[in-house]
Amino acid sequence: MTMHRRSLLKLASGLTAVTLASHALGHRPRPSRVRRDVCILGGGSSGTHAALRLRDLGSSVALVERTHRLGGHAQTYFDDASGVPINIGVVVFENVELVRDYFARLNVSAIPADFSGPPPLPIDFSTGRLVEDYAPPDPAAAGAALYAYRQILAQKLPYLDDGFELPARVPEDLAMPFGRFVEKYSLQALFPTVFLFGQGLGDILAAPSIYVLKNFSAAVVDSILGTGFLTVPAGVSTIYDGAALELGSDVLYESKVLSVERGCRGQYPISVKLSTPEGEVVVESKKLLVAFPPSPKGFASFDFTGSERSLFSSFRPNHYSTGVVRLSGISDATTLQNTGNRTPYALPSLPGVYALSPTGAPGLWNVKYGSPTLLEDRAVQQAIARDVRRIARAGSAPVSLEGFAIFRNHSPFELMASSREVASGFYRRVNGLQGFRDTFYTGATFQTHDSSLIWRFNESLLPKMFT
Ligand SMILES: Cc1cc2nc3c(=O)[nH]c(=O)nc-3n(C[C@H](O)[C@H](O)[C@H](O)COP(=O)(O)OP(=O)(O)OC[C@H]3O[C@@H](n4cnc5c(N)ncnc54)[C@H](O)[C@@H]3O)c2cc1C
Repeated sequence: MTMHRRSLLKLASGLTAVTLASHALGHRPRPSRVRRDVCILGGGSSGTHAALRLRDLGSSVALVERTHRLGGHAQTYFDDASGVPINIGVVVFENVELVRDYFARLNVSAIPADFSGPPPLPIDFSTGRLVEDYAPPDPAAAGAALYAYRQILAQKLPYLDDGFELPARVPEDLAMPFGRFVEKYSLQALFPTVFLFGQGLGDILAAPSIYVLKNFSAAVVDSILGTGFLTVPAGVSTIYDGAALELGSDVLYESKVLSVERGCRGQYPISVKLSTPEGEVVVESKKLLVAFPPSPKGFASFDFTGSERSLFSSFRPNHYSTGVVRLSGISDATTLQNTGNRTPYALPSLPGVYALSPTGAPGLWNVKYGSPTLLEDRAVQQAIARDVRRIARAGSAPVSLEGFAIFRNHSPFELMASSREVASGFYRRVNGLQGFRDTFYTGATFQTHDSSLIWRFNESLLPKMFT
C-alpha cells in the first residue's frame, strides 16, 4: 500500500499525543504529581513558543493542551487526493529574523508567500449578484495611504507592536471607532487591504481603533511594503509537529483543567489539577503562564479574586470560522469575494462569508466566515451553502457546493473591550495582573492575532517571569 507523505504527516500529527508521550516516558504511566518551574496552559502559537523558549532560558515546563494537538488556530488540512496541504487557520508570517530563527530550530522550511492571482469576482453574497461597479482603489492612492498610515504609527503610536503598554493618558485615536480614525486621517484608500487583514475582527468600522491598528500593525505594513511574508509549503501545522517532537512528554494533551490554586505554601506555589487520558495529574509549579483566550468558562476553575474575574469579564469575543468546501462549476483559480453593494468601502455585512478562495487543490476552496455572535457550526455551514446557491441563481457564477471537506470554528476570536474601557485605562489594569500571584498571560488577547508579534511579545515577557 502506498501512502502519500501528507497522509503520513496527518497520521503522525493525529498520533502525536499518544505516541510522543508514551515514547518519552518509555510507556510508563505519567506520575500523578509533576513539578516544573512553569505550568503553561494552552498549546497554541503563544504557549508552544513560550514552552520552547522557557526551556532555552533554563526553566522546566509542563505545557497543558486541551486538545490532542499543538497549534490552536494554526491547523492544516491535508487533501489526500492531491497531497496539497491547506491551512485553515494561520497562513503567513512576517519575514523577520525571529521567525526565521524559530523555523530553523524546528527544521521548518519557509518560502516567500505569493499573493498573485487573477482578480477576485466581487459578488454581494446577500443577493448573489455581481457588484458590477465595484472598483478597487487606484494603486497609487492605496500606496500613498499605506505610507501615510505607517507614518502615523511610527510618529504617534510607536509602542503598539509591543503589546498593550499604553500611555497613562490613552490617546483618543486608540479608543475612537476605526471608521472615524480612517476619516480623521483620510485613509479611505487603505480599504480593502486593511479589511483583508482584519477578518475575524467583526465590524471593523465600529471596533475601537486600537484593535485594528494592532492587527494591521507596523510589522504587517512593513511586510507589505518591503520585507514580505513567509509561508510554510508543507503546511503550518508542521511547525507544531516539530515543536511537539522537541517538547516530548512535557506536553499533556487532552487535558482538562479541574482547578487552579495559587498561593500554596513552599517553593511551588501554583497547583493545577488536571483530568488527563492517563488519569488525574497535579502540576505544581513556581509560575503559571496562561496562553489561552480569557473567557469566563476557561477561568471558571481558577481561584481568581473578584477583581481578576471582573476585569476579564469585560472582554467581548468576535466569532470566526473557516473550512474547506468542495465546489464545482467554476475554474480552480476563481476567488468569490463577498463585496457590499453601496456599503461603506464595499464591506460585506456580517454575519457572512468573507471569501471563497482557491487552495491549489483541484475542486477545493477555502471559506472564511465572520460573525459578531456565536453561531452553531451547522448554522454557519447552512448559511454558506445558501450563499453559494444564491450566487448560482443570480447567474453570477455557475457554482455549486458539493460539501465540506473540513470545518473549524475558531471562536472565541479577537476579544475586545469597549471604547470607553480602552479610554479609561482598561489595559493598564490588565497589564497590572502580569505577575500577580505568580500568574502571567500571553497570546493574541494580550498582543494581537499575529503569530510573529506574539512570539516577539513572548521574548519580552518570559525573561521577566523570574526577575
Ligand atoms: C482563520 C485564521 C487565520 C489566521 N491567519 C493568520 C496568519 O496568516 N498569520 C498570523 O500570524 N496569524 C493568523 N491568525 C491569528 C492567529 O490566531 C494567531 O497568529 C495565533 O495563532 C494565536 O495564538 P494563541 O496562542 O494566542 O491562541 P490559540 O491559537 O487560540 O491557542 C490557544 C490554545 O489553548 C488551548 N486551550 C484553550 N483553553 C484551554 C484550557 N482551558 N486549558 C488548556 N488549553 C486550552 C486551545 O486548544 C489552543 O490550542 C489567524 C487566525 C485564524 C483563526
